[in-house]
Amino acid sequence: MSGLDAGPSTEVCVIGGGPAGSALALRLARLGHEVYLVERHAFPRPQVGEALTPGVWPQLEVLGVAEAVRSEGFLPAREALVRWEDTTARPVRARMGADGLLVDRGRFDALLLAAAASAGVRVLQPATARRPERTAGGWVVPLLHEGRETRLRARFLADAGGRSGCLGGRKVPVSAPTLALHGYWRGERRQGPETRVVAGPDGWSWGAHLPDGTFSAMAFVDPALLRERGVGRRSLEPLYRELMDGSGLLEAWTAPRLVGGVRARDATCYRDEVPIEEDCIKVGEASFSIDPLSSSGVQKALQTALSGAVAVHTLLVRPGNAAAALRFYREDQRDSVARHAAWAAGYYGEHRAHADRPFWKRRAARSPMPSPPEPPPLPQDALAHRRWRLASDAVLVDTPCIVGDVIELRGALSHPRLARPVAWLDGVELASLVESLREGLTLPQLAAAWARRVPWRQGVSILGWLYRQGLLTEVTPSGSR
Ligand SMILES: Cc1cc2nc3c(=O)[nH]c(=O)nc-3n(C[C@H](O)[C@H](O)[C@H](O)COP(=O)(O)OP(=O)(O)OC[C@H]3O[C@@H](n4cnc5c(N)ncnc54)[C@H](O)[C@@H]3O)c2cc1C
Repeated sequence: MSGLDAGPSTEVCVIGGGPAGSALALRLARLGHEVYLVERHAFPRPQVGEALTPGVWPQLEVLGVAEAVRSEGFLPAREALVRWEDTTARPVRARMGADGLLVDRGRFDALLLAAAASAGVRVLQPATARRPERTAGGWVVPLLHEGRETRLRARFLADAGGRSGCLGGRKVPVSAPTLALHGYWRGERRQGPETRVVAGPDGWSWGAHLPDGTFSAMAFVDPALLRERGVGRRSLEPLYRELMDGSGLLEAWTAPRLVGGVRARDATCYRDEVPIEEDCIKVGEASFSIDPLSSSGVQKALQTALSGAVAVHTLLVRPGNAAAALRFYREDQRDSVARHAAWAAGYYGEHRAHADRPFWKRRAARSPMPSPPEPPPLPQDALAHRRWRLASDAVLVDTPCIVGDVIELRGALSHPRLARPVAWLDGVELASLVESLREGLTLPQLAAAWARRVPWRQGVSILGWLYRQGLLTEVTPSGSR
């Protein structure tokens, strides 16, 4: 390190100015931390991941950039034409009330980074971070900035460098190897604004019109297909054109023509084995990557940044809660990856036309886990006479939860029917309520016992939820059933 510029010192250094890095830096600056962000490229720079799911809107609100994104002239994503199970295309609308978005990622990412800078983040750009070194006094990050080698010292380091990351560490694959072949198209006339998703014998294709008037089109295949065809990185175009022609995706244009070259990108899903330690965190695709099938990579990246910011803030200001913060972030990553992998496998399993082809066999789950049976409808006289108590297999477990701006251990209700322990319901902490459920009480008695903690109506609605989840057991004179 000798001979290098001494460089600045900071509390937190974030490497990478994609959605995850900007969102993390912005939240930490708002929580009062001194933050530097290092981004390799001048913005706007091209990036894949142009279709954003409606779930990004609440995140953009939290970050305070929703209005700026609305005014940026991006395109609403209202409907997709999906040819998936068989050869019939069907229209699919976004499930949530709000539309998704089709963005220019160069401009979208620049907007988020500018918001971080306005929140007080010091942005070094273009600046490339080399492999950071952990020292007794914190991190030393060697940088190439404005043609000079320098270094940045930081107490805490965040890797938001995307797939390549900068901290290293083992990435465990959680899907079959997948390659995306990608190009942009223009034509004479647009044939409908819909996003298009089409399943084919050796993979699936996605295409959407973008704000700049181009049509982004990708084919997702096994890398083995390229090897079988003897296709190298420099000779991708004939195979890409063949896949596009076979998919019918380019019917989105009359007279489509490819503009620019064809690129191949790794789209394999993975999970980093160590997403957080006491002095560093990985957010966005540095932590894990999900199947592009859901078009929710950016939403997930923002989610890791928002929950990551609380974990980092806790580590910095409440070292006594460090174990809870580390557990919270690790469990969040593990759950997100598992849930998404199960969803993707189920969705691949819905494809029938080429289900016996290797691409589909490698990805599809044919027998989803059976869901537990629904409890019978609430008996008519349940409210008045019958007595209920908490099911014997429902327990309170210490669970790391976000409380305000930090992570704390709280008692949460755990039961085999619940996907994860539940600490709060409708803003009410369950631990204090379920104590009254140890003995058998009628529902009016319970609502009365809870009256000091929750309004009557809310109490009844929480009881209804507990019943529907199968967490209430009726107490009969001879015991419980
Ligand atoms: C083929 C494909 C299609 C996809 N389609 C979608 C989609 O439709 N919708 C969707 O939501 N998601 C999609 N995704 C996923 C989406 O692209 C990512 O989830 C998202 O970009 C992750 O954001 P990030 O901030 O973690 O990383 P990135 O967006 O990759 O940003 C990382 C940043 O770090 C910088 N950086 C890296 N290393 C260094 C360094 N050493 N020094 C300084 N800077 C550095 C890079 O320049 C970059 O700007 C797709 C992914 C693929 C592969």
